[in-house]
Amino acid sequence: MEYFKGVEIIDKEIKNKVRTEQVYKVFNQFMRPLISNEEYAFLEKLEKYLLKEVEPKIDYAKDVYELFPILGKGNYMQRLNKHGDMKHYGMRYELLLAMAISILDPELDLARVVSGLIFTNPIFLHGKSDRMKNILNEVLSGEKIGCICITEREQGSDAVNMKTMIEEHEDFITVTGEKIFTTNGPRADYFIVYGVSDVNDPRKTMYQAIVERKFDGLETNRLAINSVPRVHIGQTLFNSVKIPYNNIIGGRGQGYANLFSGLVAERDTIVGSSLGVSWLSLITALIYTNLREQFKMKVYKFQAVSFPIATLASELVAATVLGLRTGSEYRKFLEHPEFKFIRYNATFSSGAKIVCSRLAHRCAYEAQHICGGVAFTDNLKLEKAVQVSKLQEVIGGTRNIQLFLVSNVIKNILKNID
Ligand SMILES: Cc1cc2nc3c(=O)[nH]c(=O)nc-3n(C[C@H](O)[C@H](O)[C@H](O)COP(=O)(O)OP(=O)(O)OC[C@H]3O[C@@H](n4cnc5c(N)ncnc54)[C@H](O)[C@@H]3O)c2cc1C
Repeated sequence: MEYFKGVEIIDKEIKNKVRTEQVYKVFNQFMRPLISNEEYAFLEKLEKYLLKEVEPKIDYAKDVYELFPILGKGNYMQRLNKHGDMKHYGMRYELLLAMAISILDPELDLARVVSGLIFTNPIFLHGKSDRMKNILNEVLSGEKIGCICITEREQGSDAVNMKTMIEEHEDFITVTGEKIFTTNGPRADYFIVYGVSDVNDPRKTMYQAIVERKFDGLETNRLAINSVPRVHIGQTLFNSVKIPYNNIIGGRGQGYANLFSGLVAERDTIVGSSLGVSWLSLITALIYTNLREQFKMKVYKFQAVSFPIATLASELVAATVLGLRTGSEYRKFLEHPEFKFIRYNATFSSGAKIVCSRLAHRCAYEAQHICGGVAFTDNLKLEKAVQVSKLQEVIGGTRNIQLFLVSNVIKNILKNID
């Protein structure tokens, strides 16, 4: 997809004031009361790194993957699990990471979340072999790319009843089937794939394993998802791909448990990315409208401009508090992995994902209209924010599926009334 860089029509002073460094300064003032001193120090250090090391290398004509090794060098491919000598990790730090990277480059964070977090989390939690540890190191260095293959052409929301077949042998399994919408797939080195050995009993026969790019029988093709041109999303074909025992993360039946408990982390980090897109949009609109003049006045002075911004700011602060709370709840889920906590956490993260991803789209869309024509050009990051926010509502399970989960669980609360 060819990249076209348009002419700059934005006022030079405004352009200078909406640069990422300024957006971070405003963002930090909103965040300061919401997070601990240690979290705040982490955020400031992270932002400095992103501004100095990553931002100068961003090239909208190139895929985001060239930026992965820079994130990896700072140990910023993920912050959920401890890796190397990092001091700050856990879901709240992961949320801050997702917010800061999304403010810088929403497309980069979309791809990073899949490779750095969704791909690596099952390996951190369940991977045992040395081969997996090597894969983990390679992906977290940013030198190699990971992806996950759940969705199929006929099995989307109803992922449990997948048709991808596993054949069991003594020292290996083989996988045959088609997965689609694989984020990073066409560029990936490693693929976490889910398949079943009996389609009539998927819960008890689901496997979770890593396929490597070099394995025979693997083919990837790119889908045209033009809203994120720098991220490759694809079709992944497995034609009797042989997977050695060392690459199996979850054996027969365990794959199912791993898949569903892993979705909580996935949704939580999407909450972080959604909040980042929202803050990027809102702060850009706030700065822009306080500088842009029409009718001899800063346009922010018109209440028709400042009130929608104030409304979104109020909602966004509330959503950020909620998002950060999902980070604290995630810790409890790890400490109490019993079924009732998995269900509670699954519901809590689904509710937060609905609120935050919807808000991201509203913030981005409204900010674009609040700023006017220039926001539809590449002079501001708002068009990128709108495009990524649309995807945030569907990835990790659509809006309806999150509502389905929440509606089932809240119904159970009625059992406690007389
Ligand atoms: C950009 C992008 C990236 C993605 N990345 C990945 C990835 O990396 N790996 C991966 O495996 N998948 C990925 N996905 C797939 C994504 O998770 C699925 O699109 C999603 O789970 C929905 O499946 P579907 O698209 O087949 O929709 P369907 O399941 O066909 O749903 C169609 C519509 O029906 C609604 N619906 C379905 N069932 C119900 C129900 N019970 N109640 C109410 N409404 C219902 C849905 O909400 C939706 O609106 C990605 C998708 C996109 C668009």
